Amino acid sequence: MAAAAQNLSGGCLCGAVRFTAVPQKREMDVCHCGMCRRWSGGVFMAVSCGEVTIEDESQLGSYLSSDWAMRQFCRNCGSSLFWRLREGGDHVAVALQSFDDTGSFTFLEEIFIDDKPALYDFAGERPRLTGAEVMARFQAQQEGRQ
Ligand SMILES: [Zn+2]
Ligand SMILES: [Zn+2]
Repeated sequence: MAAAAQNLSGGCLCGAVRFTAVPQKREMDVCHCGMCRRWSGGVFMAVSCGEVTIEDESQLGSYLSSDWAMRQFCRNCGSSLFWRLREGGDHVAVALQSFDDTGSFTFLEEIFIDDKPALYDFAGERPRLTGAEVMARFQAQQEGRQ
């Protein structure tokens, strides 16, 4: 098994939303889909976390971005922080850039590569999945849980 899960601290730009999160792995993935690009102002660099504890939720805003997911942000400074399923569950995609220390993560994969604008590319070799491939994998995971 991997090393013991560890709580990592993070927060938004203004500091109103502070949290600790337990990454499932020390890996981040990047989503190029149109919703993530608009929401994050770049690409969404995400770390899958099983547990997120928020110190003070009073400044945490939630936007229901689809029938199944919501995106959470700081109401004061606008930082994009968390993507999670509306029904809850044990998976929260935490913005890599919100962690106080981003140095311990590796770049696992890129998703929704077919939505990526042509004007930029990330260097290096890694899996690059289309939106259809991601949705098929997500569906298989959901069925596996039932
Ligand atoms: Zn803030
Ligand atoms: Zn996305």
